[in-house]
Amino acid sequence: MAKNSKHCSFCGRPEAQVGFFIMGQEGAQICNECAEQAAEIVKENSISKSKLPKLQKEQVPKPIEIKEFLDEYVIGQEEAKKYLSVAVYNHYKRLMQEKTNDDVEIEKSNIIMVGYTGTGKTLLARTIAKKLHVPFTIVDATVLTEAGYVGEDIESILTRLLQVADYDVKAAERGIVFIDEIDKIARKGDNPSITRDVSGEGVQQGLLKLLEGAVVNVPPQGGRKHPDQKMIAVNTQNILFVCGGAFDGIEKKIASRLNTRVVGYNAAMENEQVDKNNLLQYIAPQDLKSFGLIPEIIGRLPILTYLEPLDRIALRRILTEPKNSIIKQYNKLFKMDQIDLVFEMEALDYIVDKAIEFKLGARGLRSITETIIMDKMYEMPSKNEKNLVISLEYAQSKIEKTNINRLKIA
Ligand code: ADP
Repeated sequence: MAKNSKHCSFCGRPEAQVGFFIMGQEGAQICNECAEQAAEIVKENSISKSKLPKLQKEQVPKPIEIKEFLDEYVIGQEEAKKYLSVAVYNHYKRLMQEKTNDDVEIEKSNIIMVGYTGTGKTLLARTIAKKLHVPFTIVDATVLTEAGYVGEDIESILTRLLQVADYDVKAAERGIVFIDEIDKIARKGDNPSITRDVSGEGVQQGLLKLLEGAVVNVPPQGGRKHPDQKMIAVNTQNILFVCGGAFDGIEKKIASRLNTRVVGYNAAMENEQVDKNNLLQYIAPQDLKSFGLIPEIIGRLPILTYLEPLDRIALRRILTEPKNSIIKQYNKLFKMDQIDLVFEMEALDYIVDKAIEFKLGARGLRSITETIIMDKMYEMPSKNEKNLVISLEYAQSKIEKTNINRLKIA
């Protein structure tokens, strides 16, 4: 087309009939509508071809290496870390397995992690994601409901995975999904027919399909499927699912299975040396069933592991030891204003004591620390002082003035 002819080189329409032109070499120009269409075509084509390079054996981190990496960020939780490291390693092996004629096909081993809220389940998942060479996403089970009710379709779990894989379906099909708060889709009562259990058993049935491995139609933008929306077919056979949940009250089910009670002294228990303070360590698949997960789901989550409750020592370590610890983060913040921040040991112990006293767990460490140094964060950048020491007395004076409910919300 001649230079400056003011017609789209693709559809031939004049400028008056389109929005605008994008100019190319030697007088070529494309109108906004043709450009949009072209972008669509490119996107559709890239969906069928994976951009993710084939995994090389040398790239795959060994379980010990994965665990050591987790150790840098997550305190304790030895068993969960080990199980997770092995599961991820085996996931890679499955992805690399060649077709052989020995009829042995490595099946996937989805995982379920049980642990009190704030003990590091999500942190483990987030940390492992940094080490992975496959798409990874965290989704929340609480938003899922049966079709026809307010909420999201089960398939929307895979939407996030598609998004992080940049809609590269082949890459998403090798990914890992962490489903948080899986306990929230447990069956609410023993008799599901009395009240509709829209976010319970029906959702579990839907989830089962994903865990088992099936080709499912995924709404590319998430939410609810609707007839006009174009779906993307995703095969979940090679997707690894890691589930996490607090399962509040499951200790009672464990205790009754162990034929004992949580409260009160029981001679039989002592003989078997059951640690009453940490019943989660005895968790077994049947406890998940008593809690309201359907047996089929439990069967598809063959690796069951637990997280330890965080004691004083663990909380104290969490404050300063992880690579990304709260104190290191505040140090960095102050360093940006050339201020050296030092917490006295007694002040750190005090923060831990308060987190325990207010039953705030690890999440409380941040809100308590923040409350203590809020005034300093406000004043110091305008001052010339370059050293800040937080003493026990200072920490106490700030916390005593604070309403503890505010700490809880933070
Ligand atoms: P959960 O998913 O089990 O409810 P999170 O992983 O979200 O708990 O933990 C909340 C916060 O508490 C984390 O962001 C982290 O700062 C801290 N935390 C919890 N457990 C640990 C741990 N074991 N090691 C280090 N930090 C932890």
